[in-house]
Amino acid sequence: MMSVGARLATKLELFEGKNRGALLMAAGEDRFQRVQIVERKDYAGDLWSIRVRPEEKLKFQPGQYATLGIRDGDHMIERPYSIVSSPHEEEIEFFFELVPEGGLTPILHHMGVGETLWMRRQAKGRFAFDDKSGHLNHFLAATVTGVAPFVSIVRNLTGEIRNGRTPNCKLAILHGASRSWEFAYREELQALSNDSSWFRYVPAISRPWEDPSWKGEVGRIEDVLRKHLDALGFEPKTTTAYLCGHPQMILNAQSILQRRRFQKEFIREEVYWVPEKGGSRPASS
Ligand SMILES: Cc1cc2nc3c(=O)[nH]c(=O)nc-3n(C[C@H](O)[C@H](O)[C@H](O)COP(=O)(O)OP(=O)(O)OC[C@H]3O[C@@H](n4cnc5c(N)ncnc54)[C@H](O)[C@@H]3O)c2cc1C
Repeated sequence: MMSVGARLATKLELFEGKNRGALLMAAGEDRFQRVQIVERKDYAGDLWSIRVRPEEKLKFQPGQYATLGIRDGDHMIERPYSIVSSPHEEEIEFFFELVPEGGLTPILHHMGVGETLWMRRQAKGRFAFDDKSGHLNHFLAATVTGVAPFVSIVRNLTGEIRNGRTPNCKLAILHGASRSWEFAYREELQALSNDSSWFRYVPAISRPWEDPSWKGEVGRIEDVLRKHLDALGFEPKTTTAYLCGHPQMILNAQSILQRRRFQKEFIREEVYWVPEKGGSRPASS
């Protein structure tokens, strides 16, 4: 009779062919599941989104992140990524920026439809929509890929409103990028902004000289944040602010909001990376 170990090994070999790395992974790391890429869209040379089909449903709240990984021998290269899709969608969507010297994004950037990667079975994060404070207004500011959790929040609310929920809050997304083609979800968000009284979308570019046909807002988030808060009539007493993406934008926006008398507890942040000491702000901010 076959030992338990031998049976497991045979089973795993059937499961994975003869890929030793994946066998080790399947034996030890049941915290991950495989997901298959079913769609990929490219927006710029360094910006793209994918939709993946998981083996089992991932439970998450809009605003949370999933951890994606690629096996490298016995080691898993894994990073957190905000989920773009709403929990009601069958597939899970992510929006990436390539970090050329990075450990994971250069590998992800080469992957296309039909290929598989790993995803932790549990979504995480506390960057969720504030439905506790009773605030009527929600001001969401993001740099480039930082819009990902906001798209999830907006898609989720749109779904609820379609199913009969009365829109009892106001949301505005201020989205910063260098050039307009970096606004991956602009069409979707602009259409909703045009058609609804509860949602506003304001994209702003910081390099208009590289995008001369742009007719919209110009400036970094920090430059235009105060103006749009005031124009919307979003007062600190009735507003929760959410900042996502570039660490320097988050620091600057925090101080602006605090000077505008926002309390710290109503400024939520999702910082995507820690800048290296003495590093300058990258072009896409
Ligand atoms: C909660 C959370 C959610 C995130 N969601 C997203 C998301 O939706 N989309 C997304 O693209 N990224 C997201 N990130 C960042 C992501 O986890 C990785 O850090 C990023 O993709 C780089 O991974 P890498 O392995 O290629 O580079 P790494 O090897 O991790 O990093 C190499 C160096 O680049 C710096 N760095 C990392 N990201 C950037 C960047 N964008 N620009 C400039 N320098 C950078 C790092 O600090 C490090 O010094 C998120 C991070 C967190 C904490």
